[in-house]
Amino acid sequence: MISGRDLHPHARDSVPLMHHLLDPNPEPLRLWLAERQLPAYRAGQIRKWLFERRADSLEDMTDLPKSLRADLAADFRLWSSTIARHQSSDDGTEKLLVEWPDAQRVECVLLRDGARRSICISTQVGCGMGCVFCASGLDGVERNLTAGEIVEQMLRLARLLPDHERLSHIVVMGMGEPLANLNNLLPALDEASSPSGLGISHRRITISTVGLPPAIDRLVERNCQYHLAVSLHAPNDELRNELVPVNKNIGIEAIMAAADRYYEASGRRLTFEYVLLGNLNDQAEHARQLASLMRGRTALLNLIPYNPVAGLPYHTPSNRCRERFVEILTQAGINVQIRERKGDQINAACGQLRRLTPAITPISLPS
Ligand code: SAH
Repeated sequence: MISGRDLHPHARDSVPLMHHLLDPNPEPLRLWLAERQLPAYRAGQIRKWLFERRADSLEDMTDLPKSLRADLAADFRLWSSTIARHQSSDDGTEKLLVEWPDAQRVECVLLRDGARRSICISTQVGCGMGCVFCASGLDGVERNLTAGEIVEQMLRLARLLPDHERLSHIVVMGMGEPLANLNNLLPALDEASSPSGLGISHRRITISTVGLPPAIDRLVERNCQYHLAVSLHAPNDELRNELVPVNKNIGIEAIMAAADRYYEASGRRLTFEYVLLGNLNDQAEHARQLASLMRGRTALLNLIPYNPVAGLPYHTPSNRCRERFVEILTQAGINVQIRERKGDQINAACGQLRRLTPAITPISLPS
């Protein structure tokens, strides 16, 4: 009863047809146990090994009979990825480049901040939104990650922690547009928040989106309590169309209206993200327009000074410029905060995640 349902079409030739144990759908394992007349509680034991006891292999699951572990290993794989690269930075940030069986790659990050242990996970290989200042979309979008692949990033990152430490927060701010892959993201986040999963409450999980109103409404319908962060980056449509090209088909007004519906339904304070790009969207006039857009909303404005991306022409505004921007907003009564840069030493900061290593420009030597 082996099926390749959870495999990518491209992977079929090279990878044995196996179930991914981290796929949130419990049916394959339940059926597998039932077919062999094995007790259903084995599934719970396995879950505990995956999420709580951080097993690295089926072999580690020592309270399962040896023969069961061997049979399971024939039909189920625990990990679907290999770790192509693991980098650590002086500020405690660690980044994994994860490679899937179809050779596609994504990056994901562990961030340490005081007692917080946050992870930043990806939802797509690449990104189709085309934000002009972001590394993740430079080569377009290749495919959605499966729910199992999203869970796998969480568990790979959790295993970087010592036994006595647990993940406390998740930000869905890695590669890709999370709301363009909701069907796979939602079951993965159910695993993150389930008490028998990672046990991280909805309020410690943030979904960051470019702003896709129909998908925001799906979160409303599902009564989600996640923290929603909307990437605004410009206070008017003319500028936003330039910086965030998908805006041409959406418009700021529709996004703000959808965000308001989410706030009303969830009661969760909204966050708006705004990348500060030198001389592009960081002028006093932009701050004033932004203030009127924010006014009256229960929201936090998160300013992100541009993190440099190799090959892109943008630059980070000076401290003076940032301070002026913040001051105009603060004086208008807006709740504003500058996001502290983390992991930039290893290109793990916001907007720096990518699936391909940047090409090295050849240095021409004098002849
Ligand atoms: N697709 C989602 C997640 C993107 S990453 C979204 O659009 O929200 C999270 C945040 O980092 C977004 O606000 C994104 O616009 C921002 N970001 C992208 N490139 C950046 C860069 N070079 N410097 C700083 N922030 C960047």
